[in-house]
Amino acid sequence: MAWVTDHHPTRSELDACVQCGLCLPACPTFRLTGRETASPRGRIQAMDAVAKGLVPVDDTFAGLLDFCLGCRACEPVCPGMVPYGRMLEGARAEIEEQVQGRSRLSGLLAGTALRSRLLRKLSGWSLAAAQRLKLTSLSPRRFRRLVAGARDLRQRGPSIVGYSSGEATKVALLAGCIQDEWFRPVNRATVQLLERAGYGVEAPNDQTCCGALAAHSGLTAQAEQMSSQNLDAFAQFDTVVATAAGCSAHLREAGWEGTEVLDVTVAIARAVSEGRLPELPPNGKEIAVQDPCHLRHAQRVVDEPRQILVAAGYTVVEIDTVGMCCGAAGLYTINQPEASAQLGEAKAQQVREARTRLVASANPGCEMQLRSYLDSDYEIRHPVEWYAEAIGSGR
Ligand code: SF4
Ligand code: SF4
Repeated sequence: MAWVTDHHPTRSELDACVQCGLCLPACPTFRLTGRETASPRGRIQAMDAVAKGLVPVDDTFAGLLDFCLGCRACEPVCPGMVPYGRMLEGARAEIEEQVQGRSRLSGLLAGTALRSRLLRKLSGWSLAAAQRLKLTSLSPRRFRRLVAGARDLRQRGPSIVGYSSGEATKVALLAGCIQDEWFRPVNRATVQLLERAGYGVEAPNDQTCCGALAAHSGLTAQAEQMSSQNLDAFAQFDTVVATAAGCSAHLREAGWEGTEVLDVTVAIARAVSEGRLPELPPNGKEIAVQDPCHLRHAQRVVDEPRQILVAAGYTVVEIDTVGMCCGAAGLYTINQPEASAQLGEAKAQQVREARTRLVASANPGCEMQLRSYLDSDYEIRHPVEWYAEAIGSGR
């Protein structure tokens, strides 16, 4: 039996790979192991073998794809423009359908828990309570790294969901799932900056998780349900702004007709370029910038976070000109802890070598991963938070 769903990698996608190997040096799992089977080319060959009926969709095939971060660093360097991220999601949908007895933890988190506002609230309350009682070290072993990297939630303020500027609102905010519960200051800074730039903003009540983690895990039905709910929630808006790079990448690829989806770094950099938001003179401070894979590789957004930080007065220090993955990668920290730790420590070392304690990262997973490997005196925030604070819009 080869493929059984409609999502599988197509023949034209598979044939787009000419086996040149140019993607291998860009691939973190190939660099960690040196194994062809841990490279994009090797994984595509495995998909091709399944398509030809030479090997089944089984635990071995699943293991090859489970080890992939889904960072998509292989895409920008590929001369054949192979849509690797799409193929990976399709192959993972097949694994979900065909391979029995796999751990359901990721599925429960990505497909169910993140969709439930109640469960998300519970996660925020529990973590805040654990932080208050200094009990975070007692969290389950698999989640300890995530918990260690979380922000202090004890005074996180209200959710932005349901907010409206009360004027003609053309711009909507996707509040996100974890972003809404664990990273509320990023959403608040975004709304304040967009309003200061002259836009009315609304965060519709009936929105839900964007579905990116579900899609990356091969849970296509759940991802499609979330996408459909959001399509209804955001249908009346010209522009939807997402504040986490993983969410904006996923929404942009959903291709909503008549609605422009922007990562917040793009929206704010655009407002600065148009003179709607100010540019401050240099403040003499250096800041290290980390590129989330779903911003740099999936959306090819590199300049905008830097433009925002420069407009805030900072001197940007580059830590990694090729944008190697930090190892957070959705639920990779939980599912592949050893490889995730190697990449997390390597990324933290790049930050240490920048010799500044100020760090900007535009994705919640990357921020948590960095914080969990760095000393507590590093300040890690989203670029729009650094900017909002600099121009006096933060709160
Ligand atoms: S760079 Fe593209 S075409 Fe070349 S091996 Fe990698 S995926 Fe295939
Ligand atoms: S998505 Fe990342 S880890 Fe997976 S094959 Fe591509 S470069 Fe390698």
